[in-house]
Amino acid sequence: MLKLDFHPAGRHFLQIPGPSPVPDRILRAISYPTIDHRGPEFGALGLQVLAGIKKIFKTEQPVIIYPASGTGAWEAALANTLSPGDTVLMYETGHFATLWKKMAEALGLTPEFIGLPGIEGWRRGVDAGMVEERLRKDAQHAIKAVCVVHNETSTGVTSDIAAVRKAIDAAGHPALLMVDTISGLASADYRHDEWGVDVTVSGSQKGLMLPPGISFNAVSKKALEAAKTAKLPKAFWAWDEIIEMNAAGYWPYTPNTNLLYGLSEALEMIMEEGLDKVFARHQRLAKACRAAVHAWGLEVQCIDPAVYSPVLTGVMMPPGFDADAIRKIIYDNFNMSLGTGLGKMKGGMFRIGHLGEANDLSLMATLAGCEMGLKLAGVPLAGSGVAAAMNELTAGKRSRD
Ligand SMILES: *Cc1c(COP(=O)(O)O)cnc(C)c1O
Repeated sequence: MLKLDFHPAGRHFLQIPGPSPVPDRILRAISYPTIDHRGPEFGALGLQVLAGIKKIFKTEQPVIIYPASGTGAWEAALANTLSPGDTVLMYETGHFATLWKKMAEALGLTPEFIGLPGIEGWRRGVDAGMVEERLRKDAQHAIKAVCVVHNETSTGVTSDIAAVRKAIDAAGHPALLMVDTISGLASADYRHDEWGVDVTVSGSQKGLMLPPGISFNAVSKKALEAAKTAKLPKAFWAWDEIIEMNAAGYWPYTPNTNLLYGLSEALEMIMEEGLDKVFARHQRLAKACRAAVHAWGLEVQCIDPAVYSPVLTGVMMPPGFDADAIRKIIYDNFNMSLGTGLGKMKGGMFRIGHLGEANDLSLMATLAGCEMGLKLAGVPLAGSGVAAAMNELTAGKRSRD
């Protein structure tokens, strides 16, 4: 066994915005025996998860499932549809948008990165007007794809994907629309077909409540068409061979059998609760979390209430306080992990994850840990965030039948 140097009583509170805590029901499913990935039992499992995952993306098109982290599915989206030197319009919403852009460069594409300067763009969603303006100037259609992040996990800001679609259409531009909803899927409303997305990228370890190790590309007919002439090198990521074998529930290589058992269980759990109820639960918890931050007298990273993330909340530190030092105090004293500030926000904020199987009491415990940690760190607080969140969560609940 892995030797850990301490074993605190009770559960570790994994309140980072992914990996999110894996429910026991899913862990038990993952522990089923590993089977022959070419045998009859596996084909049935493959068909089941391939059909089930489409409901989460809200698509009738194929969804490719990779045994890879989300980063792999980012690469797959670009490598399948684009050619060396292609210009791609990418929008800077935060650290993950920046990493995707770096990957585009590494693959030999020519990304053009737009957005607001400094951290301004890291506090708001994609400005669809800026996308439209840029596309209108591209009369020669040199831009082959527009890439945006739906739920920017580094900041706690979502973006209006339908508005980006409208902007592309208003400009009359043929660019593909590619969206990263690695942390948004199954926590925030997402509609691959209705929003006219050509490639949606997602992963297993956030809203889907699975361990890391699975990622997805949902595609469109237009993306599949582009893949026929795209010239970036691709082998492992190539959609065509996978889609062909998926017809019978199999993969061209060994898929991660046990994680697919987990995916099957996760899909069942989400469908039992109902997607709309899952989304409403996330919105409610996020609202209570923001009530706590505001009661502490601290700032939420997202400054546009229309695009607050239901997945996580970014908490900005007052000047003179290092968010990572506070995270360490909370980890050491209360056995809880919070998300670190990434990129431009390093040290300036921490992130509270409230996604996946999160509920009222897991949020309350999380906020209590934060409040105690902030006090221990000497951060001056205006009031009790815990009390504010309790008020928010009890509002609208009945006291008796
Ligand atoms: C987590 C995440 C990624 C990276 O996924 P990995 O599984 O760590 O490779 C990319 N984009 C967003 C928005 C994410 O939340």
